[in-house]
Amino acid sequence: MNFSDSEIIASILKKEGYSLTNNYEESDLILLNTCSIREKAEETIRKRLKNFNNIKKRKPSLIIGVLGCMAERLKEKLLNEERIVDIVAGPDSYRDLPNLVNNVINKEEKSVNTILSLEETYENIEPVRINTNGITAFISIMRGCDNMCSFCVVPFTRGRERSRNPFSIVNEAKDLNKKGYKEITLLGQNVDSYKWSKETNNKKKLEKSNDINEIIHFSDLLEMVAKISPDLRVRFSTSHPKDITIDVLKVIKNYENVCNYIHLPAQSGNSRILKKMNRTYDRDWYLNKVNDIKTIIGSECGISSDFITGFCSETENEHNDTLSLMDNVIYDFSYMFYYSERPGTLAQRKYEDDIPLKIKKRRLEEIIKKQNIHSLERNRLTIDKDYKVLVEGNSKKSNDFLKGRTSENKMVIFPKKDDIIGSYVDVKIKDCNSATLFGELC
Ligand code: SAH
Ligand code: SF4
Repeated sequence: MNFSDSEIIASILKKEGYSLTNNYEESDLILLNTCSIREKAEETIRKRLKNFNNIKKRKPSLIIGVLGCMAERLKEKLLNEERIVDIVAGPDSYRDLPNLVNNVINKEEKSVNTILSLEETYENIEPVRINTNGITAFISIMRGCDNMCSFCVVPFTRGRERSRNPFSIVNEAKDLNKKGYKEITLLGQNVDSYKWSKETNNKKKLEKSNDINEIIHFSDLLEMVAKISPDLRVRFSTSHPKDITIDVLKVIKNYENVCNYIHLPAQSGNSRILKKMNRTYDRDWYLNKVNDIKTIIGSECGISSDFITGFCSETENEHNDTLSLMDNVIYDFSYMFYYSERPGTLAQRKYEDDIPLKIKKRRLEEIIKKQNIHSLERNRLTIDKDYKVLVEGNSKKSNDFLKGRTSENKMVIFPKKDDIIGSYVDVKIKDCNSATLFGELC
């Protein structure tokens, strides 16, 4: 999400005559696009700001801005805490960046804009693709989040949920396709709750209003994008288990170019903890969704999850429920974290962060260990089978090999052949480890 935002920011500033550089030393303006999800993410930013101190000493005219979630969370406070910072801009004020920078240059004063918007989706801004491989790209389809998961800071830092005009999304995808891109990923905190109408793009307003004729839902949008070209692969992330619909699963099933892969974060396998997290589903509901996916799309559909260990009051038995949920689903992959209390969230205000760090970390190790076993188990099922792979480039480890992905989002490494980067090839899988498949061109 942040990467996609950086591409929007680059586009806004490019129009003002700025250009990108990979070299901090030669830059006149450094903008740090930040995340507040876990405390560690913010600590990383503070460390990077310290590193920039030396550059600023050598070049006092250098302007430094902190953008995104951390800016939104801390607002003016950040200017006092981090003296080196000149600009603080929240996720809905990127259009104001040229002004904010000019303020610093012309008035020699620090600039802050952290106003959140009910409608902003940056829909008419064509992102500048950063570090692109020219083959895969992200398209932001919505902003903000109206869910109130008790552990999560996102609703506070990114504001209310709004959906981007579907026609601007389709145009962006068509344009990428014309430029030779072969895969797009539709991005949002909760893509399945995408809802747009001509009258309003704000989810709350849309649900309250009685005189709205036509609503475009995520399944409609997915189908519109899928129809652009059978050669353009479509992925999406993230799906909230409470919102993913049978219609979405049917679109995946019906269109070969919509990838057989769903990121469906469970967070926990225990219903009491899920309730406390305010996820609004329980273990059985989640398992039913997984069952729907396996029935409609097939058991080979890639499924991944996010998990949090050591959430407030989680008992050993409740943690074991997460392990048993994993045994039940057998995920292809997971992002796993230990709980990090975030200021202002429901959990911080209502519940005690009472699981000692040592236990949070031990539980995390246990789920990581299990996930590795499951990833290997799932990957082994691909051996001796043929897969359509979109070739993304040279393998990181050797220029004699290429890398690409299957529809199920599995990375495949195979011996190099000329002129196939950016095209689809059939690969027979010969071997694997828990992270990667190894194959040969068919
Ligand atoms: N919108 C997505 C999640 C976005 S945040 C969803 O609802 O699934 C990405 C992941 O960060 C979350 O799924 C969660 O596992 C993790 N996360 C969020 N807040 C956290 C916190 N306070 N401590 C630890 N992990 C957290
Ligand atoms: Fe955070 Fe929950 Fe929204 Fe995801 S759905 S961004 S976890 S509040």
